[in-house]
Amino acid sequence: MEYSLIIGVLVFVLGLAFGSFGNVVIWRLPRGESLSYPASHCPECDGPIAWYDNVPVASWLILRGRCRSCSAPIPVRYPAVELTSGLLWLLAWAQFGLSPRTLGAIVFYYLLLILAAIDLDTYRLPNPLIGLMGAIGVAGVAASMAGLPVLPLLPASGVFSSPLVSALVGCGAPAVITLGIALIYERARGREGFGMGDVKLLAVMGPYLGPYTLMVLFLGSMLGAVVGVIAARRSTEGMAMRVPFGPFLAGAAVMVSVAGPALWLWYAGLLA
Ligand SMILES: [Zn+2]
Repeated sequence: MEYSLIIGVLVFVLGLAFGSFGNVVIWRLPRGESLSYPASHCPECDGPIAWYDNVPVASWLILRGRCRSCSAPIPVRYPAVELTSGLLWLLAWAQFGLSPRTLGAIVFYYLLLILAAIDLDTYRLPNPLIGLMGAIGVAGVAASMAGLPVLPLLPASGVFSSPLVSALVGCGAPAVITLGIALIYERARGREGFGMGDVKLLAVMGPYLGPYTLMVLFLGSMLGAVVGVIAARRSTEGMAMRVPFGPFLAGAAVMVSVAGPALWLWYAGLLA
């Protein structure tokens, strides 16, 4: 019992620390800056940030959200990303314990968090991160086929019990549907319904979630539509306002990886 408490704290702290690095990636990657150099500095006064002012969440609280040298406000987004990362790592551990799948889940959740934040900032899902998620996904499926079950996170039965079939269907099905919708939408409205980034993000979820990527598409679209309509009503831009879709897909993916099989059973029960 105490043993698992120690592991849990360790996983959480690791998640916080990686969240801190995640903030660096979220800020620098879209700007084409190096991720390793220079060391953390305040974007306002360029002053270096000492290690004791860079402790995840705690430093932000102690400094009351302001830079120590110039008092420029540090957005609450920073500790929020750190905390979310810590909680997502904890979630992966709670789901899969100390198993190879935990690693797959941590990578998946962590990359989703970074992608969602970048999409919020820039309306883009950078290819290097999508590619990384895809490459690790392929490696995870290969490991499973070699007897070390890393991916998919949600094993299914029947024809989908093969990690390869599961990944291919999970990758292809939502891609075909979103591409179809994008084409129809573009003809009808003259603008994109789905961005190519969203299509690619769904595709690289395939190795992680298998056919459950269809549920991510469905749930993400519902969440996005509800929030989009609320946001458009409040915005002066109205329906012309752009709402990034990536954060909804990312949120839906985490929900599905936790509750997907239960949701599916519930839905199938409604049909029966
Ligand atoms: Zn400063």
